[in-house]
Amino acid sequence: MNVPFLDLKAINAGLRAELVEACTRVIDSGWYIGGNELASFEAQFADYCGAQYCIGVANGLDALTLTLRAWKEMGKIKEGDEVIVPANTYIASILAVTENRLVPVLVEPDLETYNLCPSKVEAAITSRTRVLLPVHLYGQLADMPALREIAQKHNLLILEDSAQSHGASIDGRKAGNWGDASGFSFYPGKNLGALGDAGAITTSDAELAQTLKALRNYGSHEKYKNLFPGVNSRLDEIQAAMLSVKLKHLDAQTEHRRVIADVYLKGIKNPAITLPAAPSMSAASLESHVWHLFVVRSERRELLQSHLAEQGVQTLIHYPIPPHRQQAYAEWNQRSLPITEAIHEQVISLPMGPTMTVEEANHVVAACNAFSAG
Ligand SMILES: *Cc1c(COP(=O)(O)O)cnc(C)c1O
Repeated sequence: MNVPFLDLKAINAGLRAELVEACTRVIDSGWYIGGNELASFEAQFADYCGAQYCIGVANGLDALTLTLRAWKEMGKIKEGDEVIVPANTYIASILAVTENRLVPVLVEPDLETYNLCPSKVEAAITSRTRVLLPVHLYGQLADMPALREIAQKHNLLILEDSAQSHGASIDGRKAGNWGDASGFSFYPGKNLGALGDAGAITTSDAELAQTLKALRNYGSHEKYKNLFPGVNSRLDEIQAAMLSVKLKHLDAQTEHRRVIADVYLKGIKNPAITLPAAPSMSAASLESHVWHLFVVRSERRELLQSHLAEQGVQTLIHYPIPPHRQQAYAEWNQRSLPITEAIHEQVISLPMGPTMTVEEANHVVAACNAFSAG
């Protein structure tokens, strides 16, 4: 049996009729940028997250970059201010900070959850810290109640990186409604994925929403009038229409991911493989994970990956090189971040997705249990 890592073709094939209908509607409308499809998706997604506003942009990186930029334009932060980010995040979270000439302060994650650890965040706060940028990595919400308390105490803004966690919630409060703003990516492989690039910011701050709407559109709030030297970062009508279709199916797809995760969590029993810290079986904490990725650790990762490949199980590494070891950030290459480095050396992501069958998951479990690290 062959188990692909993620079958995007199958995911979208299941929704083909609805997607084609929505696509046809846009083609026939004669209106392709900044119309009803965008306004409608923005309203639906804001509502889904429980936020007041949603501002569609071209991709997830822009969602983060433009939010920090907007706070600069609004006078809330300035160049040189420090932004606390998890050291093990996907590089985009950090690119958004450096693009704005802000200073990323890399904080080691919690090894159990791969997310920011509140006590280490508090220890990293200086007189120049202005923003916390928690990333809900692999689909699991960071400890937002604790991070919000820290932010309140030290008067910090929170920008959530929710690119991997659409729909994840704690106590009924979703990703996108915990921070002062939240950046989402709708890259095709994300839990809510367009059929191309797309992203959005959610917020309940009216001034921020207005500033972002101008910034994404050349800095213009009214035709031919420019408030800021902005950029062109728009979510076009076709992608907005695709996303409105896909949003309707997101919760059912998340439930399916949870079924697959449960098969893995209950079935994989191998001392050479460390499972993700399972959210305890209480309903509230189960909701905190939407299983964008199912990431395990092994000290013999390369061996495990080739063993699984022989069994027809496709795996990927998220991520092989930590940001501080990238050539792009040569100034950090000598820094020692042992937890982050161990994570990048040991993680491996098992197949996960809304069209995966339980039979396929059982095959992955058997392949994992047959692995011998010796
Ligand atoms: C995908 C991703 C991004 C960037 O989103 P794009 O739409 O690809 O620009 C940012 N942060 C995280 C954590 C991501 O996974």
